[in-house]
Amino acid sequence: MLDCVIIGGGPSGLNGSLVLARANKNIILFDEDKPRNAVTHESHGFITRDGIKPSEFKRIAKEELMKYPNCKIVNERVMHIKKEKQSFTIYIKTGKVYKSRKVILSTGLIDVLPSIHGMSDFYGTSLFSCPFCDGWELKDLPLVLIAENAGAFHKVKLLYNWSKDLVVCTNGKRVFSQEQRDLLAKKKIKLIEDEIMVLQGEKGQLKTIRFKNGTQIERKGGFVTAGLKQASSLAMTMGCKQHKNGGIETDSFGRTNIEGVYASGDISLSAPSQVINAASEGSIVAMGVIHDLVREDF
Ligand SMILES: Cc1cc2nc3c(=O)[nH]c(=O)nc-3n(C[C@H](O)[C@H](O)[C@H](O)COP(=O)(O)OP(=O)(O)OC[C@H]3O[C@@H](n4cnc5c(N)ncnc54)[C@H](O)[C@@H]3O)c2cc1C
Repeated sequence: MLDCVIIGGGPSGLNGSLVLARANKNIILFDEDKPRNAVTHESHGFITRDGIKPSEFKRIAKEELMKYPNCKIVNERVMHIKKEKQSFTIYIKTGKVYKSRKVILSTGLIDVLPSIHGMSDFYGTSLFSCPFCDGWELKDLPLVLIAENAGAFHKVKLLYNWSKDLVVCTNGKRVFSQEQRDLLAKKKIKLIEDEIMVLQGEKGQLKTIRFKNGTQIERKGGFVTAGLKQASSLAMTMGCKQHKNGGIETDSFGRTNIEGVYASGDISLSAPSQVINAASEGSIVAMGVIHDLVREDF
């Protein structure tokens, strides 16, 4: 019987595994290896790791974990988890079955991008979703914000911090009030509400946005407001409660409403989506698991 399984080997699951391994716990980290930031070449904002390639971050983390003989990494998707009286049965894609006392879900989120032709050619290279992650690299450039929802105005204010040369495209939607339009005009931010036909450029570098009405604009990069959805349905099928925003509800140590099931990282949507926040949550939740295990065992 394992002490804990960690499902998802992003920064959260990796850091959680490290803390559990260092507490003498017998653990397995299952990871399908489809992280949210796989599209980007550089990850920013984590001190000592600023600008690191996400795959390199993961390689270093897994190498560090392999120093602990009580920690195993299995690169497979977990398909199902069954709650027994005092434990869990974990079913993975290969058909193999494992037993564990506790489960940490660190399965992350998926970005749902506006359905615009060409979007995937530039997302992660010159079009991004988070200015804290990639704003510095696009600082002072002619940027576009593609935003189709009500959160658009907040994003405009945020982006204006990095570049004043901003065009906002709503792709045919009307998301701004008259007051907001007046403010955009005052700040000389152009608003285009026509439907986008295609995004064009070369080798991941956005150049042109062409509209269905035949017009076009030139931009050197930008941001897009993406929707978010859970990368895995494991939490929901186990009956974990969700917040209105779609995140999994937990206490401050990651305990969900299902006894023995914990959640950490992006999955809980409790902190801004950042590698450092996910790693930090992984550590806190692992400590929650360790506290519960020692209390049960002492
Ligand atoms: C384009 C882009 C750029 C970004 N840039 C930055 C940046 O510069 N700096 C920054 O701090 N943050 C950045 N982020 C945010 C950052 O990627 C996330 O906050 C972080 O990856 C969340 O970590 P996590 O461990 O919660 O989830 P993830 O990193 O998404 O990891 C989840 C893991 O769980 C696995 N998994 C899911 N379901 C299962 C299953 N059933 N069985 C087994 N494994 C499973 C997935 O395959 C994945 O490997 C960026 C995000 C995007 C989209």
